Amino acid sequence: MRACIHRGSKQIGGSCVEIEHEGQRLLIDLGLPLDAESNDSQYLPPIGALDGSDPSLLGILISHPHLDHFGLLAHISPSIPIGMGAAARRILSAAAPFLPGNWPIPAPGWDYETGQSFATGSFRITPYLVDHSAYDAYAFLIEAGGKRLFYSGDFRAHGRKSALFERLVANPPGGVDALLVEGSSLGRLGADEHFPTEAEIEAQLIQSFSATDGLAMVHTSVQNIDRIVSILRACRKTGRKLVIDLYAAAILEATENRNLPQSDWPDVALFVPRAQRLQIKENAWFDLLNKHSKNRIFIETLQSVAKQSTVLFRPLHRYDLEKGNCLEGASYIYSQWEGYWEQGMYDDLRSWLERNNIKKQSIHTSGHASPADLKTFVASLAPKKVVPIHSFTPERYPEMFAHVEPHHDGEWWEV
Ligand SMILES: [Zn+2]
Repeated sequence: MRACIHRGSKQIGGSCVEIEHEGQRLLIDLGLPLDAESNDSQYLPPIGALDGSDPSLLGILISHPHLDHFGLLAHISPSIPIGMGAAARRILSAAAPFLPGNWPIPAPGWDYETGQSFATGSFRITPYLVDHSAYDAYAFLIEAGGKRLFYSGDFRAHGRKSALFERLVANPPGGVDALLVEGSSLGRLGADEHFPTEAEIEAQLIQSFSATDGLAMVHTSVQNIDRIVSILRACRKTGRKLVIDLYAAAILEATENRNLPQSDWPDVALFVPRAQRLQIKENAWFDLLNKHSKNRIFIETLQSVAKQSTVLFRPLHRYDLEKGNCLEGASYIYSQWEGYWEQGMYDDLRSWLERNNIKKQSIHTSGHASPADLKTFVASLAPKKVVPIHSFTPERYPEMFAHVEPHHDGEWWEV
């Protein structure tokens, strides 16, 4: 078995790895680079037959539903089979109508079940559900020609599913020849530093909600389901309801996991901002709206119960909350990647907050393993070689792990 990192040997985002055995090929992830200005086909790595014309390409294994891992699926032939978690697949379909700009809907292929191996061509693949900020995220063991390659995907050990990490390191697949392991945190934290746990995030949210005299607004990715759970738990402990919009309601429903917050829960309310009402009308999403309207509230109600409410905020809420006088004593908590502010994506939001005299607080933790957890992970898998991927600092790998064998983007190597 041979492998080639097309993108990701020296960067976070845009991951794509090709593996080949006896003339058959598989891709692992087909991500959009983080610095891409739009989801454009110009970012496709130089891989043959993405138009579906060559049956030697057996399919694409997507590790998790983040754009930097699946975004470029928008530009390939729908005849190429795509592997994903079933819930991740449903989430992407539910999200598509709400999101502009070439949001891909993956073609059918394999639906992963953790620990259940499946074969395609001469490859045998075993997916492992992992703890990550994307729902339904996987690592893979891929076997072919007597060799074993393990792809970590993006993972952490400090989220709500940290038991998955513990389970994997307690009972790792043996005999791994090559481990492609993400190293996002190596450029951000020192060897002994840790990201806060999701439980610590919950505690910080409780503190912030308690100190807020009016509406609490938490700005996070609706697809970061772990975070929504933390927010709802903090709401319960501070006597607040969680107010979601129709997009969030649709994503939560798509998990098909009744243990996760849903629009019909008594401590959840649906508020549909004006921008979304226009979308509903334009696209005739009346069934979707009806399905989630059990606990629907309108702006007058939100204004009167602002002190007992936390809005799962997105910038499209600004108009409604301001016009509906919901902002007296309000707080704004930013709970996702800080880099978006530096990229200028939230310049308008910044002016809106300033105009309404609301300070930005940040409460967030990473979806990626801290360096010490990466060490534990690599030591437990004990691979013959460790190949850096999904890191801006691959040069730090040799300080952290034994048997590091870096490979450049575009270089083919024997597993
Ligand atoms: Zn990633």
